[in-house]
Amino acid sequence: MLIKDQAICLRAMEYSETSQIVTLLTRSHGRIQAIAKGARRPKSSFGGTIERFSRGHIVYLPNENSSLVTLREFHQMYDLVLIMSRHLEAYHCALLGTELLTKLMHDDDPHEALFDAFVQYLQDLGHPTSPDTARRDCLGLLIVFQLSLLREVGLYPMFSRCLNCKAAISPCQTVVFFSHSANGLVCHDCEMSFPDRMAVSGEVMGCLAQISRISGASVQTLLQVETLIIDHFTYLLHTRPKTAKWVLDMTLAK
Ligand SMILES: [Zn+2]
Repeated sequence: MLIKDQAICLRAMEYSETSQIVTLLTRSHGRIQAIAKGARRPKSSFGGTIERFSRGHIVYLPNENSSLVTLREFHQMYDLVLIMSRHLEAYHCALLGTELLTKLMHDDDPHEALFDAFVQYLQDLGHPTSPDTARRDCLGLLIVFQLSLLREVGLYPMFSRCLNCKAAISPCQTVVFFSHSANGLVCHDCEMSFPDRMAVSGEVMGCLAQISRISGASVQTLLQVETLIIDHFTYLLHTRPKTAKWVLDMTLAK
């Protein structure tokens, strides 16, 4: 039975002379892998080669013997592809968001809110409040998206209480302790029990505990927040995200 959905392309690879294998994030059916036969032909039925970040309505046919579905239609819009081709910082942040999303989601496990958040994230990356703040805006959007991703997959860290004794912890303190293995904060009384805890400035933790603070934070602070988040994803995924260095280098460069 043919299935209709909305989708955005996370990854596209060449397959044979005329076809592609694509990883799509769909709104109602989660992540899927699909073969797009003839997608690379000059008169492709998909309106052109399928590109990363192209999006639109799709029709596909599930395969009983394989997780690889057959893509029949993809009415592609290239607006997000265009945005990414114009803004390098946005592109790097989009790639990191895509890598984390791809690694944390499972096939056929839908998260409609996350699909919407991802599309909105990519759109917002292309519309900084001003050219002067593009770098800071991109970093702030990336941080907010990563927190949404953690929340949606059930891995949101505890930022308001000690994971161990449940004591409330104010992000306004000068220094707080964060443990990747405990997935959140530990208080001064408990920190010795967590060998991997690290001291984090109240300024950095304030951005994580109250995302409204992100818009007023400096690039330097956001860089520290992002470094902590990347270290956290590295712990969760047992491997450092490959595209993380582009985001951190981009921010260090200026
Ligand atoms: Zn405690």
